[in-house]
Amino acid sequence: MPTQTLKRIAKSKAQPPKVGFVSLGCPKALVDSEQIITQLRAEGYDIAPSYDGADLVVVNTCGFIDSAVEESLDAIGEALAENGKVIVTGCLGAKKGDSGSNLIQEVHPKVLAVTGPHATDEVMAHVHAHLPQPHDPFIDLVPAAGIKLTPKHYAYLKISEGCNHRCTFCIIPSMRGDLVSRPVANVMQEAENLVKSGVKELLVISQDTSAYGVDIKYRTGFWNGRPIKTRMTELCGALGELGVWVRLHYVYPYPHVDEVIPLMADGKVLPYLDIPFQHANARILKLMKRPAAAEKTLERIHAWRKACPDLTIRSTFIAGFPGETEAEFQELLDFLTEAQLDRVGCFAYSPVEGARANDLPDPVPDALRAERQARFMAHQEKISAARLQAKVGREIDVLVDRLAENDRKERIAVGRSKADAPEIDGLVYVTGVSKKVAPGEFLHARVVAAQAHDLVAEACT
Ligand code: SF4
Repeated sequence: MPTQTLKRIAKSKAQPPKVGFVSLGCPKALVDSEQIITQLRAEGYDIAPSYDGADLVVVNTCGFIDSAVEESLDAIGEALAENGKVIVTGCLGAKKGDSGSNLIQEVHPKVLAVTGPHATDEVMAHVHAHLPQPHDPFIDLVPAAGIKLTPKHYAYLKISEGCNHRCTFCIIPSMRGDLVSRPVANVMQEAENLVKSGVKELLVISQDTSAYGVDIKYRTGFWNGRPIKTRMTELCGALGELGVWVRLHYVYPYPHVDEVIPLMADGKVLPYLDIPFQHANARILKLMKRPAAAEKTLERIHAWRKACPDLTIRSTFIAGFPGETEAEFQELLDFLTEAQLDRVGCFAYSPVEGARANDLPDPVPDALRAERQARFMAHQEKISAARLQAKVGREIDVLVDRLAENDRKERIAVGRSKADAPEIDGLVYVTGVSKKVAPGEFLHARVVAAQAHDLVAEACT
């Protein structure tokens, strides 16, 4: 290698420009952060661990509910105070303020630039403008799977961006736009790279996973020379060949969801559906303008369970939506009793600025919304607890997340079963584990006790 080139590399190696990164929001925002960080590293930038070590800071924001907006605006303020050079991206970047101009620029006029979500190219253009790109990108320093912010053994796989629905309580489509599906070949290539880099669990995410490919008329792509349609069922079949856990999030109960149940029964993808029902009463679902509001949900849940008895169903609901009567709320509780869902979250309705539901008549008073949410949770808690209790005595597979010690100073593995997604579901505490067990490995264990959300198990020898 010529000396001049060596000197040039040595110089750029000694002082790569450093970018600080603050990532807020949901897994979809996390994937955006991963893509930006991957691109930064691919171009030779370093990621700084603190504000003062950074030449510039990127803040990826969330704008879904008012508390998230506040948290994002505070984070931007902190980055400006601590560092001064700040580029903002993410959902909040697309939001308008009172004067009709960009909200972030209204509150924090000193930010260098603002972009909406899913805007890696735009963010990189702003980074280049304020912190010139290093001359020698060490692209070989970036693994094929990109830079991940999750532990090494699981990763989110974003298959599309945006949403074609217009649920009246949601402003995501106005921030993230209409559905844009990623080509199936790109998704499969990323999934393969992740598995090669040690990922044991792929978490498929989007705003609406069951709508994958609708925007491109289920176009056929190619993976390993084989044609595959850009469609949820075909994607699940292909992902199921990679030999790792595949977990589906944000699935809506369209008729073709029935097609993935046999893949779950056959062990190709995890028997787990994260399916946000939001309500059970037909009139409220109509007011919410929910996709698949007219589907016969209870009948379908029973049919899914019949075909795949181990199916875990997680869902979210809203209590106290505008106009919700006591009888309609009671119908929701009756639905829970009948549906026997495993994991459930419930929000008291909270008006989000810019959402059409704010204009609906007969808002439910704040105190009553909170009271209904509490009643909902108390009702569901008994169901979830009974479903967990029914697992005592069963043998399960556990993916180890970390190692720890219990009260008796015994080494235990803390992990998750097929029924538990990271961050949102419960954990399994496994005793009697060998010294060789490490995070990212699978264990087989027998459940010996159930707590409110978690399980206690003994490793099978
Ligand atoms: S399906 Fe409804 S709630 Fe989900 S992102 Fe689309 S508009 Fe929002």
